[in-house]
Amino acid sequence: MADVRVDVLAIGSLAKNRYWDEKTPVRKEYATATLVRAGKMVLVVDPGWPAEVLDSALYYRAGLRPKDVTHVFLTHFDASHCLGIMRFEKAAWSMYDEEIRYADAETPADAPARTILARLQPAPEKFAPGVDLFPTFGHTPGHASLLAYTALESIIVAGDVVLTRDHFESSDLGEMPWDLEKAKTSFQDVLEIADQIVPAHDNVFVCRGGGGML
Ligand SMILES: [Zn+2]
Repeated sequence: MADVRVDVLAIGSLAKNRYWDEKTPVRKEYATATLVRAGKMVLVVDPGWPAEVLDSALYYRAGLRPKDVTHVFLTHFDASHCLGIMRFEKAAWSMYDEEIRYADAETPADAPARTILARLQPAPEKFAPGVDLFPTFGHTPGHASLLAYTALESIIVAGDVVLTRDHFESSDLGEMPWDLEKAKTSFQDVLEIADQIVPAHDNVFVCRGGGGML
């Protein structure tokens, strides 16, 4: 799929990174925002930075404006993964349908996040040729990643299945997956399929998988 292109827009952060010997939150937590382009589709996965940061990132990384974004996909329903979503008013927003149901059950009726939840549609199995939904349950009940095939490689925009490169290399699934066994399976799936991984709170890295790490 030669016309599929994946670019990291803004590299995410963790409030507390145990690999940096941090035991309490010391910074704001943002999710890595990723741009996936295929044909006429301009998709932002996890717009987890303030809107003004996403504006600049889009323009400086891709020469685009928020109005050019046609789709937004959330790997799961977490404030640090959708902070700037309101900037993409004209885009179609989606999330895995099981995650929409879970978020609906967990989000209080008067929570501001309801505004976002109300606009989320169930994600399609395929966003475009070479860009597929890749369910990765475990961190949350309906967590899902995105699998993109470029001409040369497969790239998984993983979401919180893979928090950072350090977490990946240590087979560390984070502090409290909703379902540890499912999270392990999802981690293994990503490991086996991805040539490159975009983690939720770090920069893209090469995956030399093909074997079990857990
Ligand atoms: Zn996250």
